[in-house]
Amino acid sequence: MTEHATMMEPVTRMLMGDEAVAHAAAHAGISAAYAYPGTPSTEILECLLEMQKKQGSPKAAWCANEKTAYEAALGMSMAGMRTLVSMKHVGLNVAADPFMNSAVVQPVGGLVVAVADDPGMHSSQNEQDSRYYADFARVPCLEPADPQEAYDMVRDAYDLSEAFRIPVLVRLVTRLAHQRSGVRLQPDRRGNDAEVTPDRDDWVLLPAYARKLWKRRLIDAPELRRWAEESKYNTLSLNEEFPELGVITTGISKHYFLELTSEVGLSPSHLHIGAYPMPMEKTRKLVDHCGEILVIEEGYPHVERMLRGIVPPSIAIRGRMDGTIPEDGEMSQDLIRRALGLPVGEGVQLASMELPGRPPRLCEGCPHTDAYDALRIALEGHERPIVMSDIGCYTLGILPPHRVGDSCVCMGASIGMAKGAADAGVHPSIAIIGDSTFLHSGVTPLMDAVSGNADMLLVILDNQTVAMTGTQPTLLPSERIHELILGLGVDPEHCHKFEVHPRKVGELAELFRREISHPGLSVVIAHRECIEAARRNKKN
Ligand code: SF4
Repeated sequence: MTEHATMMEPVTRMLMGDEAVAHAAAHAGISAAYAYPGTPSTEILECLLEMQKKQGSPKAAWCANEKTAYEAALGMSMAGMRTLVSMKHVGLNVAADPFMNSAVVQPVGGLVVAVADDPGMHSSQNEQDSRYYADFARVPCLEPADPQEAYDMVRDAYDLSEAFRIPVLVRLVTRLAHQRSGVRLQPDRRGNDAEVTPDRDDWVLLPAYARKLWKRRLIDAPELRRWAEESKYNTLSLNEEFPELGVITTGISKHYFLELTSEVGLSPSHLHIGAYPMPMEKTRKLVDHCGEILVIEEGYPHVERMLRGIVPPSIAIRGRMDGTIPEDGEMSQDLIRRALGLPVGEGVQLASMELPGRPPRLCEGCPHTDAYDALRIALEGHERPIVMSDIGCYTLGILPPHRVGDSCVCMGASIGMAKGAADAGVHPSIAIIGDSTFLHSGVTPLMDAVSGNADMLLVILDNQTVAMTGTQPTLLPSERIHELILGLGVDPEHCHKFEVHPRKVGELAELFRREISHPGLSVVIAHRECIEAARRNKKN
């Protein structure tokens, strides 16, 4: 039971978008939530962990990666219980396999996937737009405009998921995930009773079953489109006296646009889309009414592209694709002002001073600093070393003053890429990865390196935490990581655990040098606790 189980009247609380998602899932009666930390979605599970600590439920757990989190949620749904799985946008790439296939099986308990996109790449390697994934998998997508709507939509998503027996994707963006506002909470809904009646016809994706299931999904599609057409989250207002322009907004762009129009007294016809599949009838009504359409959406030009398939050439479509709004970066009121031909930045006092840049850097005393110093020393004299880095605090080592690392692509990529470079004859070929990233996606490429005895050095920077997202715990303690690596078949003579210390930089450099000269696979686990995690652990 959550804090609202006995509540008769709704209450209002100040919540971040992420927290609104967590509260909605709890109040919708989920039995469990699963996630892997990643900005800007981390706070969803953190909020549920807090509830679990205080109230005992719902169950909340960090997982090895987004794929395992998704699969745990899928199993929970198969057992008839409501569940939430959350991740950042690039995490959905990792979970794409179960996600795509969960759209073919028939979930039983409500299955909601909260995915936080990061337009503007505040802390991510790309700007991918998760609405494309929903469209690709043919599952419904809800895109809230503010924390209240995030709360309402997540609650509704459970009913929708169970009515259509389909996963529902809720797409957040950074500005919403981290924005705080008053959210009206509703009384709890009781969780589902366990209903473990697995039906092979519904859950086995052998081709003979899968073809039937896919057909069933396609038969349901018109019903789903009708649901979106009638959804309260898709609203159309036509202004008979102003047929020149129609505006389509999606998600949080709605508020940017409405604030602006109320300020300048502009009122074009307006379609707001918060629920997909795209409401085609409402869209056609808007198009039939207006001479020009402006599309304001956060992320890729998803709606704009679809429009281009249905709008006659006589009607101009403006948006990200024709350059009215830049194709990259976050949406802003200034961009909308420009698109509407209004003056930009009125009333805003811009700083007249040039402020110095403040590039991000490792904390003072970070253990990675010593490992980087040692590696730089060990690589002296090598003409063409390659150092593949990975995703975590240590990626900052690529920047001055350390300048260690030549790549950073996606979780776990360092190991496979170092193997590829070693196969190409590059020496030394080095992979640098954190302990949590290694457990997330580094174990499988290490198996490839073991199987081919790749001539490379793997350095695991083991700080016993997921530091970059707020010092969440790593799934395995250092000792178990060492055992795991030996279990994969790495030669024990070339698998070392080293306690990093500023006074032992020379010793570590010597170990690196020795292993670089070994013609085969070597692993060094450079261990010392993250100082931020140590501080936090001391406080608790
Ligand atoms: S949070 Fe921890 S791992 Fe990250 S830079 Fe600071 S000390 Fe290093």
